[in-house]
Amino acid sequence: MKEPSEEFNRACEEYMTSGGSRRTCECGMTFYNPDGGWDWNEGELEELQAKEERGEATSVGYTVTAMSIDGKEFVIGCPCNGLRQYEDFIWAYRELSALYIRNRAKTQLDEAHRNMETSELLLSELHDLDEGETEDGDD
Ligand SMILES: [Zn+2]
Repeated sequence: MKEPSEEFNRACEEYMTSGGSRRTCECGMTFYNPDGGWDWNEGELEELQAKEERGEATSVGYTVTAMSIDGKEFVIGCPCNGLRQYEDFIWAYRELSALYIRNRAKTQLDEAHRNMETSELLLSELHDLDEGETEDGDD
């Protein structure tokens, strides 16, 4: 699979849901940052080093970041390139996505305006009641 683009990786890191001393990618590879000044549990670092010797972990010189999407967690920069399929999907349907977001936002904005008008009407009636005014109520 093709690598995710730099733009997509940057977007994922801005949106990022998790980052730290270690993360395991959806593909099964664990990435860890042994020299990052993290607090490790007793034996945790040795366990990771043993995993690395078996080819199940990779040590990196930076904070490990991961992106959760579609119920899966992908480590950013993992050679499995698991995020690429999501980038391709988002890009392929960008026009549909933009139209949908516009329509959804308009619906929510219309609803917000209706709620605001109702609130203003209620506040106005409460204000009138507070001042001892009465209304005939024939509308
Ligand atoms: Zn992976």
